[in-house]
Amino acid sequence: MKSNCCFQKCINAACGATFDVREIHVACPSCGDLLDVVYDWDRAKPPKLLSAFQARWTNRRNPLDFSGVWRFRELLDFCPDEYKVTLGEGQTLLQSSPGVAAYIGAKSDSVFLQYEGLNPSGSFKDNGMAAAFSHARMVGAARVACASTGNTSASLALYAARCGLPAIVFVGSGRIAFGKLAQALDYGAGTLQIAGDFDACMRRVKEASARLKLYLMNSVNPFRLEGQKTIMYRVLEGLGWEAPDWVVVPGGNLGNSSAFGKAFMEMKELGLLKRLPRLAVINSTGADTLDRLVNQKKLTWQRGRYDRDAIAADWKWQDDTRRLPHTIASAIEIARPVNAAKCLRALEVCDGVVRSVPDSEIMDAKAQVGRYGLGCEPASAAAVAGAKRLVEEGVIDRDARIVCILTGHALKDPDATVGYHTGNYPPGKEVHGERPFANAPVPVADDIEAICAAIEAQR
Ligand SMILES: *Cc1c(COP(=O)(O)O)cnc(C)c1O
Ligand SMILES: [Zn+2]
Repeated sequence: MKSNCCFQKCINAACGATFDVREIHVACPSCGDLLDVVYDWDRAKPPKLLSAFQARWTNRRNPLDFSGVWRFRELLDFCPDEYKVTLGEGQTLLQSSPGVAAYIGAKSDSVFLQYEGLNPSGSFKDNGMAAAFSHARMVGAARVACASTGNTSASLALYAARCGLPAIVFVGSGRIAFGKLAQALDYGAGTLQIAGDFDACMRRVKEASARLKLYLMNSVNPFRLEGQKTIMYRVLEGLGWEAPDWVVVPGGNLGNSSAFGKAFMEMKELGLLKRLPRLAVINSTGADTLDRLVNQKKLTWQRGRYDRDAIAADWKWQDDTRRLPHTIASAIEIARPVNAAKCLRALEVCDGVVRSVPDSEIMDAKAQVGRYGLGCEPASAAAVAGAKRLVEEGVIDRDARIVCILTGHALKDPDATVGYHTGNYPPGKEVHGERPFANAPVPVADDIEAICAAIEAQR
């Protein structure tokens, strides 16, 4: 790395404070807003054409060339190679899905699914962890921590185990899907089940990190978002380096949507991409803070002078009315998204829209994604359910090229899946709806006649 090729910068236009890339901050020390990683592109020297990156993938013997994050390293050049961490993340493929296209009501060959469940810990979070752990190693972090609805802790625990760093994860008690909790335990992370929801975990892990000097791995960490930009580079690669018309992504803490917006903003600035896609961020109706901020309160980015008071007022309103998020899509069961401001920027850059979809539509969409041969966890299916709504509304043209990001693996939350197919949802996670795609197991006697009859009845 060339020296001074990048630095950290406060996103608040009224502040704009800058910090060395070797400093550790989870918020601007001057004003408390979020930080960005900003590059001096003359020094970082990315290639003139995006297609220059794709040749690296064939070089499987160099782990940094093979990594779906680090083969784009000139576009996230914040640390020298010696500190870079990779577990082979980002080996994901954009896949056309005529079945899901029919479900959405779009043209058969124009819907694509980006299955980030294929990552080493089974979610897109690994893209971010590869980058954040590289920064943690560069700055000599001794212990790492996060708050999590599940996948962040699974991913952090895995990368910490590989790096030999002690890890602490905060999860809301009773709220984490078992597949995800199982991973954190198996990878050896100290796991604290806080008596509270995700937002409580987030607040506490920030306090504990400040006090005990833990390196915080949540998406308030700007280096994590640098890794998540690469999801968009791979989507473009899958489309021959042309932007789709729409990228549809579920919104929880809004790190992913923020990272996507930053990726496109930078590619435009660099002249690497002429036309940008539009962005759709999908909430669950049970955790719809972004939808409310954008569609009811009309918040916009305002070049970094967005209405901070309106966000604070919304948080206070949630406190006063004791409003709690509730959705079967546990990965997006978040009421105070930490990256809300960066997401407003992404929505501006990509002329974005926000919608909420009910759990019943999320679970129907999830069953369809599985039925057509990929599978995903509930939160991921919010993207597909959201795309369907937007096509029905006429916001997304039915001929448009649509990319839905499937953020997590189908096996993360088997309780939700079995609940849909049998009608027995996990306690506290009931979903109302018709379950048109339910495929319940059929009880059959231990009798060959009955078995053959049951097999024939399947046709
Ligand atoms: C973390 C996560 C999300 C939410 O992503 P944000 O960046 O927090 O908006 C969605 N789906 C899955 C599977 C996740 O793990
Ligand atoms: Zn600031």
